[in-house]
Amino acid sequence: MKNEKEAAGGADSFDVVVIGGGPAGYPAAIRAAQNKLRVACIDEWKNRDGSAAFGGTCLNAGCIPSKALLESTELYHRVQEEFAAHGIKVSGATLDVAQMQKRKSGIVRGMTQGILALFKAAGVTPLQGHGTLGAGRRVDFTAHDGTRRALTARHVVLASGSVPIELRSAPFKPPHIVDSWGALDFETVPKRLGVIGAGVIGLELGSVWRRLGAEVVVLEALPDFLAFADQQLAREALKHFKKLGLDIRLGAKVTGAALAGGAVEVSYEDAKGAQRVGVDRLVVAIGRRPYSQELLGADSGVELDERGFIRVDEHCRTAVEGVWAIGDCVRGPMLAHKGKEEGVMVADLIAGRYGEVNYKVVPSVIYTAPEIAWVGLTEEQIKASGREYKSGVFPFLASGRARALEQATGFVKLLAARDDDEILGVHIIGPMAGELIAEAVLAMEYSASSEDLQRTIHAHPTLAEGLHEAALGADKRAIDSINR
Ligand code: FAD
Ligand code: NAD
Repeated sequence: MKNEKEAAGGADSFDVVVIGGGPAGYPAAIRAAQNKLRVACIDEWKNRDGSAAFGGTCLNAGCIPSKALLESTELYHRVQEEFAAHGIKVSGATLDVAQMQKRKSGIVRGMTQGILALFKAAGVTPLQGHGTLGAGRRVDFTAHDGTRRALTARHVVLASGSVPIELRSAPFKPPHIVDSWGALDFETVPKRLGVIGAGVIGLELGSVWRRLGAEVVVLEALPDFLAFADQQLAREALKHFKKLGLDIRLGAKVTGAALAGGAVEVSYEDAKGAQRVGVDRLVVAIGRRPYSQELLGADSGVELDERGFIRVDEHCRTAVEGVWAIGDCVRGPMLAHKGKEEGVMVADLIAGRYGEVNYKVVPSVIYTAPEIAWVGLTEEQIKASGREYKSGVFPFLASGRARALEQATGFVKLLAARDDDEILGVHIIGPMAGELIAEAVLAMEYSASSEDLQRTIHAHPTLAEGLHEAALGADKRAIDSINR
């Protein structure tokens, strides 16, 4: 607030103005300030209670609240399904959804307030309200209280993020037909939950409410499950989601959603013809689209592509000198860590330093149980490229640590080139896959061969040995599993 007043006092000229304070924008602002530049970060996010908060979708309504609920609900599930195997008998475990939601909100609050502390420490001026880019890198700022100011900057970084795509046949009608934010805030467990889209959000939030007892039906338009993932991984994942009780219906094209008596009647078509399913709540999670509403003045000169993404080059430069764009509002996967790296790259390039993002090694993680994570190419993509490859698969069933955890499901799969042994892709389904993938990302970032991994000591007994063994398996030299 103090910084805001200082800026209001006439100090409206900055080296860098960042519009958007999500996981792309706020790291850009912090790195720019670390680079000794004078920086302001504008963000307009408002929570349902009217409070303003930095952190964007990820911290307020995405990554962080979803992971908080995934953790709580997984614990509840384990108490019932897993503890007995450990010899721990628990009776009368009950659910307190209000407490679960309170914990989630506390984590979100702590993380978003943390950004203000980071800004203060780095010397970034936080400005809460709306920013619009005009010609000559002028930014018109309207604070939440309506105060307007014209800022000027040597560089402007656009980080305006994305919003959920609405389905014409099932438009949002809260509290019955909701987006992911709505589905994170249910106060009670719906008896029957419908989810449209078996993508990352559908699977994560479907798992959350299923573990708490909801009957969950997931309607996916495509005939293949997780079509964008390695298909061996996808098949294994589908098995586990079915075991959890998710009713995943593939090739289902939703044609309508009617509200009647507090429930939603969803109609869809599949290979067998017209179908219907009744649910109490419906989550529409069919992807997100870039958001740039009132971001660009008519004279800004910044171009959008045909899908609404801000057009940038590989270094996130727009067509306008000194204007950059990063995160979900530009091409590439809509992931927080991808946006963060773009923010850091841009802030370093602005300061005349080196900066790049290696788009070939952006990890993907689905935080379900078991977790699913991958980096690099799928087996299908390598086959299509025509490159000769070898594959090593290590099942967690052969991992002492996974067995001790009572989570010996899934596998690590490593794909490497036959000619020079380059690691081309790593696909993991199993306990802590999201943590384990970091080693594969590092290996690929450093252009390691599968032999480099084979010759690296991994502590025993750890889940990380799975990657070691998968690398060995690629050359039929695995020790702890049968080489096939
Ligand atoms: P955003 O986070 O959307 O932030 C943009 C900010 O800019 C917002 O605060 C917005 O209000 C503000 N803004 C926009 N226009 C203006 C303007 N003109 N003036 C001022 N402010 C403006 N990704 C992961 O990597 N891991 C996960 O586990 C994960 N989980 C997710 C779970 C859910 C339920 C959802 C919905 C998303 C999840 N994502 C996850 C995706 C992740 O949230 C996004 O990739 C990420 O938030 C994008 O960051 P961003 O900074 O580009 O945009
Ligand atoms: P998504 O692209 O992951 O999945 C959308 C799914 O909906 C796809 O399977 C698609 O085929 C299906 N679909 C599209 N139109 C449909 C229709 N009319 N009827 C039925 N199905 C339809 O998108 P999402 O799950 O909404 O997530 C949005 C973004 O948020 C993604 O880009 C994702 O990367 C990001 N996100 C990431 C994480 C994570 O990293 N763990 C978690 C949540 C969200």
